[in-house]
Amino acid sequence: MRATLYYRGSLSSCNYDCPYCPFSKNKDNAETLAKDRTQLARFMDWVREQEAGGNRLSVFFNPYGEGLVHRWYREAMTELSHMAHIDKVAIQTNLSVKLDWTERLNPRKAAFWATYHPGETSEAAFLKQCMFLYGKNIPFSVGSVGVRSAFAAINSLRRKLPEDVYLWVNAFKDAKNYYSEADKEQLRLIDPHFDLNVNDYDSYGKPCETGHSVFYVQGNGLVKRCYKDRTVIGNLYRSGLEGLARQRPCRLACCDCYIGYIHMPELELKSVYGESMLERIAKPADKGSGMRQRMKI
Ligand code: SF4
Ligand code: SF4
Repeated sequence: MRATLYYRGSLSSCNYDCPYCPFSKNKDNAETLAKDRTQLARFMDWVREQEAGGNRLSVFFNPYGEGLVHRWYREAMTELSHMAHIDKVAIQTNLSVKLDWTERLNPRKAAFWATYHPGETSEAAFLKQCMFLYGKNIPFSVGSVGVRSAFAAINSLRRKLPEDVYLWVNAFKDAKNYYSEADKEQLRLIDPHFDLNVNDYDSYGKPCETGHSVFYVQGNGLVKRCYKDRTVIGNLYRSGLEGLARQRPCRLACCDCYIGYIHMPELELKSVYGESMLERIAKPADKGSGMRQRMKI
């Protein structure tokens, strides 16, 4: 079967200090780091075994914190990008680490979801990292949380990135009715797909690929169907994909996060992101129309 696996181990630490994040400047002790490393090694063993069974996989690392500061995530990405039965490997990252190791990645399968945190890094430093990936033809999306205090920084970054690098803006949803119409207009000029994210989707009882071909794997092997539904649906290492996969209608009232709603078939988001949905790179035609809109202002 073909499946997408989100993977999150025990890591919960980061080298950045974002004020809105519970993992900011958190330091994991040696024991937790060793556990995270062992868990990832176990996961990698399991992934290697899947080739013989004919399973094709896409893997997305979404750690609590920053994974790429640790060698085991860099090595896992590199190895996965060269495996015949892997279609894609991507990671959510603040892109702060030295990127020389990416020379060993297979750019046809590896990708980055790079989040810009103004205040934690300079625009010049972040751009330099983006341009390194760009120069190596390694696919990546860039994005930021659309808090009002960051509008100017996001706008500036958009102007300086190459036109063919997609920049997404994640809607800030912690405060109700946060955006005025004027705010939304402004953000649409930066991210032509901002409306897709600012919306919450009624999902109760609706089909969703999570739990069927998309799984959220924890370091200990327990699997949840998605980022939001806390019910454990099984253990990856005991049940295998075939034992876990079942069509399950959504049990929650709404779906409000990109890594969830992209798996709702009724939204047909493949038409927007094509084969790069996991790393959130919109198709060129859509980026182009957004760019043309910006040029008018
Ligand atoms: S870079 Fe990400 S994980 Fe690290 S503190 Fe900021 S939001 Fe949290
Ligand atoms: S909350 Fe979203 S991702 Fe989770 S099952 Fe419902 S629709 Fe799918």
